[in-house]
Amino acid sequence: MTARKILIYPQEREALRKQSAEVPVVNRRVRHLIKDLKNTLKAHEEGIGLAAPQIGEHRRVVIVRLSEGRESPAPPLALVNPRVLDAANPRRDFDGCLSFPGLYGETVRPHYLRVAFLDEYGNPVERVFLDFDAVLVHHEIDHLDGVLFIDRIERPEDLYHIREDEFGRQVRVPLSTPLDFIRWGMPVPPEMQAQQERAR
Ligand code: ZN
Repeated sequence: MTARKILIYPQEREALRKQSAEVPVVNRRVRHLIKDLKNTLKAHEEGIGLAAPQIGEHRRVVIVRLSEGRESPAPPLALVNPRVLDAANPRRDFDGCLSFPGLYGETVRPHYLRVAFLDEYGNPVERVFLDFDAVLVHHEIDHLDGVLFIDRIERPEDLYHIREDEFGRQVRVPLSTPLDFIRWGMPVPPEMQAQQERAR
């Protein structure tokens, strides 16, 4: 029962950008990794998904807590060697990642996803994920190819932090200075570079 350390961007960018390898067989070692992923996710109340490379294991394994339209998400489901068979209905939706604590954004991802994978006992499964569950599964599969949610941001103003205002309400605070972007290891958007030049 070990909760592992989650790699954080940009400090551990190299490991988070690395491609993960196919799992040849779902054996005890893989089930052990799945257990570690579940325990790690359990330690992060706000988390609904985790990919093996986020704990430094470059094998194609992810876990997701699906909502399937319910209020509270289901216990984690493991997907080994997930492969997207069909993706449709792209829409803008909420995105965030345990490797980017405190950073959120809006990305465009499919809201219909048909995926083939092995379950944690090695059985082949084909399943359709809808709405935010599709977003979640798509986000986690991205991790296996070193793709991060900041790569799918279309406009810099779609990235934000969440703060509480004076009434205790959660409000979005968009990244607004060049330093905000530098801190997250991202290039400063051109329009902000111009702003910086003028301020000089
Ligand atoms: Zn993530």
